[in-house]
Amino acid sequence: MSYLNYIGGQWIGAASGATFEDTNPADERDLIGAFPDSGAADVAAAVSAVKAARPAWSAASPEVRADILFKAADIMSRRADEIAAELTREEGKTINEARNEARRIAANFRLYAGEALRLNGETYPSEAGQLVLSVRQPVGVVAVITPWNFPLSMAARKIAPALAAGNGVIFKPSEITPLMGQRLVEVLLEAGLPANLIALVQGRGPTVGQAITAEPGIDALTFTGSFAVGKQIAASLSTDTRCQLEMGGKNATVVLADADIAKAAAIIERGAFGLTGQACTGTSRVLVARPLYDALVEKLAGVAKAIKVGPGTADGVKMGPLATRGQYEKVLAYIEIAKSEGARIVTGGEALRESGDDALAHGYFVSPAVIADLPADSRLMREEIFGPVVAIRAIDSLDEAIALADETEYGLAVSLVTNDLNAVMRFTRETQHGIIKVNSPTTGVSLNAPFGGFKHSSNQAAKEQGGANVMDFYSRIKTVYLGA
Ligand code: NAD
Repeated sequence: MSYLNYIGGQWIGAASGATFEDTNPADERDLIGAFPDSGAADVAAAVSAVKAARPAWSAASPEVRADILFKAADIMSRRADEIAAELTREEGKTINEARNEARRIAANFRLYAGEALRLNGETYPSEAGQLVLSVRQPVGVVAVITPWNFPLSMAARKIAPALAAGNGVIFKPSEITPLMGQRLVEVLLEAGLPANLIALVQGRGPTVGQAITAEPGIDALTFTGSFAVGKQIAASLSTDTRCQLEMGGKNATVVLADADIAKAAAIIERGAFGLTGQACTGTSRVLVARPLYDALVEKLAGVAKAIKVGPGTADGVKMGPLATRGQYEKVLAYIEIAKSEGARIVTGGEALRESGDDALAHGYFVSPAVIADLPADSRLMREEIFGPVVAIRAIDSLDEAIALADETEYGLAVSLVTNDLNAVMRFTRETQHGIIKVNSPTTGVSLNAPFGGFKHSSNQAAKEQGGANVMDFYSRIKTVYLGA
């Protein structure tokens, strides 16, 4: 099957005619399709088409914009299971995980349809005889660059508010999950989004992504992905292009001395091994009160061993493959690093394609890994692995827990397992993390709450993802002084 870009209201190939292939990570022999391997010429055509169509959309009433997003929500609800099956095939997550993601998109569209309706300015106190007010206008053309791990939800939470505020969109999905990009655009077009208002430009980061950052017609760029790429994007954008960067994490679950071991293990299981450990908020480290250390290591090892790994559509499978060969090799490399550092691989970290099981022979399957007894300076405690690997370390005080949780370049999500409210309050005050979760996994966030991290996890504008200020990134505020 061959897929196309959507540019200027038409489905067309890359100007160069080049394509790239998309395969199933559970079985690399399963070819999903060929997609346009686009370049700078395609980006330029996309930007000029969207730029031309955008003023009419900006002038449309909020009800018109909201109506299309409400319709998109209905279509997404209707197609959720069908698209979820394709998401499992393309990205590897289990069918339950894929359904959760696909079904959430409808809620996402509805949320931003509501924002279109209530997008307003304010009035301000002023000298007598003057009325001071703020008005909002769209930013213009918004570029949306997204990762593969939540290919629907990361894109929807950017595209929907951008459209709700009256902007046009240039959408570049990850080259690992181009089919999910295609499906989102189909849903919006079926809902009646005017042709030309969105362009879908498929292709690779260093070509299409880079061309977008160099394109003068882009007024704002919203990106979710790795810190390395986010940093590159920030460096290459012109200074007057708005830029939202949501990046990596090295998230910890802190288990305090009053915690129940079984409860802590269940929370860590979901955070560390859900989505095959490939969530930006995934639990990658556990910091546990020393008296509980041995029991928690043992309990977690049992939990990890019981996880059935396999293709996401197979019965009873709780953990799918890693999404790419690169991810697979990276995870196995970190297991070797742990061994060379002298850490104890309590369980997992095995390359299952060599296990002799036919169902696993052609996919990127790794067994969930629990690693203990790490040296103080272990790379596994600091670097983002983005796989089903959890490193456990003992702590002797709350001070040490806060210090170690913050001892990475990232600061996205941290979770605490405890009923000690004072400890929670202190942790919340002092930690350099944007999301603090208590008695729940580091993963799993609310659609309408602020989302973002500290340090290398997010730039300041990323704090406008979710929450009351969500539309600030997608609109410009003008302050008007009305005199008599
Ligand atoms: P990535 O940074 O490799 O790619 C993200 C997107 O950027 C892709 O569409 C890619 O094609 C594009 N890209 C690559 N090079 C580019 C360039 N030079 N210029 C412009 N665009 C370019 O990330 P990934 O591997 O797709 O996703 C995994 C990373 O994303 C992890 O670090 C993870 O933590 C992070 N992530 C963060 C969040 C969050 O909300 N904080 C959510 C999901 C994933």
